[in-house]
Amino acid sequence: MRNTLTKFGWLFAGILAGVVTPQFFAPPAADASRQRGSSDPDPTLQQLAAGELPIVDLTWTLNDRNPYWPGENYEPFRLKTIATLEKDGVLSKSIFTPEHLGTHLDAPNHFEKNQPSVDEITPEAFFGPGVVIDVAAESEADPDFLLSIQHIEQWERTHEPVPTGAIVFLKTGWGRHWTNYPRYKNQDAMGKMHFPGYSVEAVRFLIEKRKIRGIGIDTLSIDRGLSRDFAVHHALNAAGRYGLENVARLEELPASGFHVFVAPVKVEAGTGGPTRIFAILPPKP
Ligand SMILES: [Zn+2]
Repeated sequence: MRNTLTKFGWLFAGILAGVVTPQFFAPPAADASRQRGSSDPDPTLQQLAAGELPIVDLTWTLNDRNPYWPGENYEPFRLKTIATLEKDGVLSKSIFTPEHLGTHLDAPNHFEKNQPSVDEITPEAFFGPGVVIDVAAESEADPDFLLSIQHIEQWERTHEPVPTGAIVFLKTGWGRHWTNYPRYKNQDAMGKMHFPGYSVEAVRFLIEKRKIRGIGIDTLSIDRGLSRDFAVHHALNAAGRYGLENVARLEELPASGFHVFVAPVKVEAGTGGPTRIFAILPPKP
């Protein structure tokens, strides 16, 4: 891990010094033909460092009103002051939270044995081209909506093939319910939740045929609310991939042509945790 980080550090330094061609943002060579044309080049790390690229923060702010998984032993986020400027000369707080609360990452060990914990995921997995599949209209009509392979193929006909190494987001429109916990989890009289998600077939397709790095969604779970077997979590985690849940502001992103930085908290043996996610957009024309 240390070698990888060092290499990455040198690459970054090299790019900033102009020694290394900024291939970081470029797609893997095998898929170069799938990408946008040369008239629309990928942005560079120099542009990012110069503050020239629009950044969308895909992270909800943590507080004690955040929705959380309504399971046994889960609890709301809490923040406790442990020192104050008046009494101690310093302001300091402690945070208490389930790993899977707010905008967070599901590590591969969340649902499968012998898979990496959050601290073991290689840094390279946290950077990739972004894709947004918009199913807000379908989800509005049917809160139990499942994304199928056909929906992905339809998206690809309209846009481009999902790039190798992509981080794929499913935009269900659920983000607009974030500050309304009952509406967000949408439980019926039996306690069953109703919100949209990925089908396991779609996720297998993205992993096997498109070699994606991870998937995200703007709901409580990448499996739809009705799921009891968590098939999507199992398929994703068994392939060593991660999920991102409660992702914010997907409506501010284009369908493709942007890059994603994923930065989860690094807890030893953790099954996930609070995660800052940034989308880096091309410079404004
Ligand atoms: Zn989770």
